[in-house]
Amino acid sequence: MTGKLSRREFLGAASGATAAAVMVPGMSHSIEAPAVHIRQSSKNVAVASGNGLRAVAKAGELMAQGVDTLDAAIEGVKIQELDPNDMSVGYGGLPNEHGVVQLDASCMHGPTKRAGAVGALEGIKTPSVVAKYVLLYTNHIMLVGEGAKKFALSYGFKEEDLMTEQSRERWLRWRANRGERDDWINVERDEQMVPRPTGTINCNVVNSSGDISSVTTTSGLAWKIPGRVGDSPIIGAGQYTDNDVGAAGSTGRGESNIMVCGAFLTVEGMRRGLSPTDAALETLRRVVAASEPRLLDERGQPTFGLSFYAVSKAGEFGAATIRPSRYAVFDGVEASHQDTAYLYERDA
Ligand code: ASP
Repeated sequence: MTGKLSRREFLGAASGATAAAVMVPGMSHSIEAPAVHIRQSSKNVAVASGNGLRAVAKAGELMAQGVDTLDAAIEGVKIQELDPNDMSVGYGGLPNEHGVVQLDASCMHGPTKRAGAVGALEGIKTPSVVAKYVLLYTNHIMLVGEGAKKFALSYGFKEEDLMTEQSRERWLRWRANRGERDDWINVERDEQMVPRPTGTINCNVVNSSGDISSVTTTSGLAWKIPGRVGDSPIIGAGQYTDNDVGAAGSTGRGESNIMVCGAFLTVEGMRRGLSPTDAALETLRRVVAASEPRLLDERGQPTFGLSFYAVSKAGEFGAATIRPSRYAVFDGVEASHQDTAYLYERDA
């Protein structure tokens, strides 16, 4: 056997491999992932960031009809991508410094052990679906920029202006007011500069057969440096699924998440037996420990926001944030907002 596998052999090896075992070309034995003994969910469960109430309701409804977990999760987050009033995701998302909307997304499908992602994608309203096409139809995991757009266009996605009146107004105002010494005349001097918003939607689902998927999609940080890619399209940071254990994903300051591979770390916490909530909290503690001093206040607490959401194969769910917040859950029966676990109280 040579050290290389053809695509056909690779796919054959993957489908023949036992769960959690990785075949290494040239080696006669497999490397086992640490054993997990998680009972299987008997219900359909979905969790999402706070803006994902409609997403989890949709994902729950679709899973009840027997729709695949990845399709259910993506149909859920697509509601937000197509909503012009959500200025943190897809159409209507806030643009970069130059007024161009650049979208990031990634997804994973537990049963087939596949992943797909796009970064800095322009002109396409639904990056989560383009990420799914990368997962389905290529031997790659991530496409970025112009290549990602051409890939999407080849499948018939339409190129559109992603700015809405509302998002353009916000960008123009930011550009006008960002500094005193530039060539833009300030507007509404007596008003506070628009705060730098962030936003994203992450959705993680498990169905009643114990199959698991995850997806995250975002327009990233508003007014970002063109070309900046956050955590959302990074497999293991923005989201991660292991069909033997669970799924997790994140919203908030992407750079801080990338530093700890937070979605992967949260799934590994569940593999070691932690509940989704405790695994998410443990990941946040790692984030604080990995933060440079300039990102912490005098008490050592982060000055940024970051959240993790998780489901286990058993259908347990949870979320943790740096300060108290809410997240969206479909618990098998209904969709609701629930309180997150958190590291620090909000300042009074
Ligand atoms: N995580 C996203 C990013 O860093 C932003 C967000 O969730 O607010 O691009």
